[in-house]
Amino acid sequence: MTSYINADLHCHSVVSDGTLTPEALAQRAKANGVELWALTDHDELGGQDRALEAARAAGLPYLTGAEISVTFAGITVHIVGLGMDHKHPELLAGLQTTRGGREQRAREMSDDLARVGIKGVYEGALKYVGNPDLISRSHFARYLVEIGACRDTNEVFRKYITEGKPGFVPHRWASLADAVRWITHAGGVAVIAHPGRYKLTPNEEFALFSEFKAHGGQGVEVMTGAHGQADFAKYTGFCQEFGLVASRGSDFHSPEESHADLGQLPYLPGSVTPVWELLQSRILQ
Ligand code: AMP
Ligand code: MN
Ligand code: MN
Ligand code: MN
Repeated sequence: MTSYINADLHCHSVVSDGTLTPEALAQRAKANGVELWALTDHDELGGQDRALEAARAAGLPYLTGAEISVTFAGITVHIVGLGMDHKHPELLAGLQTTRGGREQRAREMSDDLARVGIKGVYEGALKYVGNPDLISRSHFARYLVEIGACRDTNEVFRKYITEGKPGFVPHRWASLADAVRWITHAGGVAVIAHPGRYKLTPNEEFALFSEFKAHGGQGVEVMTGAHGQADFAKYTGFCQEFGLVASRGSDFHSPEESHADLGQLPYLPGSVTPVWELLQSRILQ
C-alpha cells in the first residue's frame, strides 16, 4: 500500500490528556482530510468505542489505539499500539496496572509544588481531568497556566514538573517487554512513539530499538508533531536498519497547545513500508 495516505495514528481525547471529546476529534480529523484515523489515549482504551462510532458516522476508516507509558533506561518512553482487540483481557489488565500510580504521583507532585509556594495544584488540576483514572502532567500544566504561574503549557514543562524541576516525581511505568506483549497478544502492532523526543545516548537508543524488535515490536513513528527534518531523515534510516515499518501521527492534544493539527503533517517517504500495510485486516469502517 502507498505511503501517500493522510493517516493520523496518534492523538488524545478527554479520556486522557486531550481537550476534545472522541466525537469532536473524529469530526476534526474528517474536516482536515484525514483518511485513516486512530485515537491513542495514554494508558487507556475507554474512548475506543466512542471514537469508532464517531469515525463510522463520519465515514472515516479507523484503527483502535493506545499510547502506553514505559520506563526504559531510567526515562519514560511511549509505545503506541494500533489495531488491537480493545476488549482483550491481558491488554486491559496491563493498562489498568499502568494507570495505577497516577493518583499518588499527582498528590506528591502537588506537595512538591507547595514547597516552592504554589499551593492547591492537585485540586486545581482535577478541574481539567476528564477521566479520574488518568490525572496527567498535562492537567497540572493547564492549571499552572490558569493561575498565571506560566504563560503557556510549554513554559510549564520547561520550569516545572520535568526532571530536576519543582513538581517532578519520578515514576515507574510498564516495562518495554510488557507493553509490546500486551499489544501483540491483542492482535495489534507496537510502534515506538516520537523517538526524537527522548534524551537517550546513542547506545541507549540502539538498545531501545534492538530490544523493542526482540520483544516483537514492528514500527516507529517517523512523521509526528515533535519531529523536525533531521528526525524524519534519521528515523526513515532506522526503518531500514532495524527492519521496521513507519507510522505517522500528529500527537494532537488541543487546538491551543499542539504543534501539529490532525492530519497536518508531511506524508511518509515512499521508501518506507507504512504501518497500515500490516494492519489492512484491522481497519474498521
Ligand atoms: P504524564 O503521562 O502524566 O507524565 O504526562 C505526559 C504528557 O505531558 C505527555 O503526553 C504530553 O502530553 C505532555 N508533555 C510532556 N512533556 C511536554 C513538553 N515538554 N511540552 C508540552 N507537553 C509535554
Ligand atoms: Mn499527552
Ligand atoms: Mn507521547
Ligand atoms: Mn501522545
